[in-house]
Amino acid sequence: MTDNRKANDMTAGKTDASTPDLAGLSCHAGKDELQKAASAAGKSEILDRYAADYPLGPHDQPQSMCPAFGSLRVGLRMRRTATVLSGSACCVYGLTFTSHFYGARRTVGYVPFNSETLVTGKLFEDIRDAVFQLADPEKYDTVVVTNLCVPTASGVPLQLLPKEINGVRIIGIDVPGFGVPTHAEAKDVLSGAMLKYAAQEIRQGPVAAPRAGKAKLPTVTLIGEMFPADPVVIGRLLEPMGLAAGPVVPVREWRELFAAFDCAAVGAIHPFYTASIREFESAGRPIVGSAPVGHDGTAEWLAAIGKAAGVSADKIAAAQNAILPAIRGALSAKPIKGRITVSGYEGSELLVARLLVESGAEVPYVGTACPKTQWSDADRTWLEARGVAINYRASLEDDIAAVLHFKPDLAIGTTPVVQKAKELAIPSLYFTNLISARPLMGPAGAGSLADVINAAIGNKARFDRMSEFFDGVGRGPNAGVWEDVPRDRPEFRAKYQAMLAARAKAEESTAT
Ligand code: SF4
Repeated sequence: MTDNRKANDMTAGKTDASTPDLAGLSCHAGKDELQKAASAAGKSEILDRYAADYPLGPHDQPQSMCPAFGSLRVGLRMRRTATVLSGSACCVYGLTFTSHFYGARRTVGYVPFNSETLVTGKLFEDIRDAVFQLADPEKYDTVVVTNLCVPTASGVPLQLLPKEINGVRIIGIDVPGFGVPTHAEAKDVLSGAMLKYAAQEIRQGPVAAPRAGKAKLPTVTLIGEMFPADPVVIGRLLEPMGLAAGPVVPVREWRELFAAFDCAAVGAIHPFYTASIREFESAGRPIVGSAPVGHDGTAEWLAAIGKAAGVSADKIAAAQNAILPAIRGALSAKPIKGRITVSGYEGSELLVARLLVESGAEVPYVGTACPKTQWSDADRTWLEARGVAINYRASLEDDIAAVLHFKPDLAIGTTPVVQKAKELAIPSLYFTNLISARPLMGPAGAGSLADVINAAIGNKARFDRMSEFFDGVGRGPNAGVWEDVPRDRPEFRAKYQAMLAARAKAEESTAT
């Protein structure tokens, strides 16, 4: 078959100067080696696209979970969607474990490989067979196949999969850790690919209507995973302007993609969905950044959305007047007092910081693993005008340095940041589980953070008591309570380091 011949050509383990030896390639090969291999294997176009969509810097790459978890979760949450991973067994084990830990309750398909099937191109044929077996229109609208690091680096050509089998759409994506910086952006890789596919279907003819029928009012499509109540709240905010909340991307069902395009404007609530935004822009839909958080954020967002959707100034003012006093009331009824550092990898860090500042907190630092895009400009300028330092693509070291430097009353952050802060007896809250899992928008969001944050800040005395209680029980190798306290032996480590260095030197001289 032509497809398979091409696949064999592209993945054969050639070892000339331009093509790395794929048989020896593993996910421990290092980012540069994997990138080189992927480019040589025909993936340079997709890697260049990722480099443009998800720019790195000022740091190389934030430390976060395997990026593929983001796209995997998007697929697993969709109705009538089958998900297949192609990657090293250890990666697939970790990703499957994490999906089930977060309650996927869905099967994750896996096409295993070994060195032989990888380098001979048989892996692609195995994937193709698996997709044909899965593509049952009774059960599925879509099959999503994801290349993880090694198959991407080896050039497994998912782009050669049939676009559709028995009416089931086939989407093949590459989500390598060396090309997609965060799991947040991987959600955009899949959402963007599905939007692109859906846009082509729309161009070809009539498409399925939304499950609940076509909206009666012009809608605003929302981009970014939110607390479930947030889109409902946004819908109420939009009503006085004669608008309604439309689908939320990432969607939960394929037909929502069609409805997402059928909108008056798009709200990029999370600012890093570059590929998805590109599809909406290609369809001529206006995009508005930021979100209706707090008093100022809601006022600005309603004005920007109203303008983008062609709503009259009177109606925009009516929408603002209908809600802003309630938001101000909610903010002043539940003030937050204290210094708070914020860091996370969800993409909503700046929005949370706005809400904290409007609630009365002092926020000296916001670190986000996500990149700087124009869609967070409004939040960035608002926060910077209030003295907040914003660090895009923040590394764990930056976030911890901020905690050490600012000595906050509360550190909101990722697991290792929270762990470090607790070690320093600083109250802390995990961003993903405790902050993202709350409403942020409109009046509901205005008071929602205060209870959990004030309770956490109020725990400072308990942290101090614990520090005092455990004081003197040691650190590192001698942490704990001992009869004979273990003695650290740095000289052993130094000896092994020297032995390793000597062996590396000997191997180097043998090789040359
Ligand atoms: S797919 Fe890549 S980034 Fe993900 S766990 Fe495997 S090696 Fe790491």
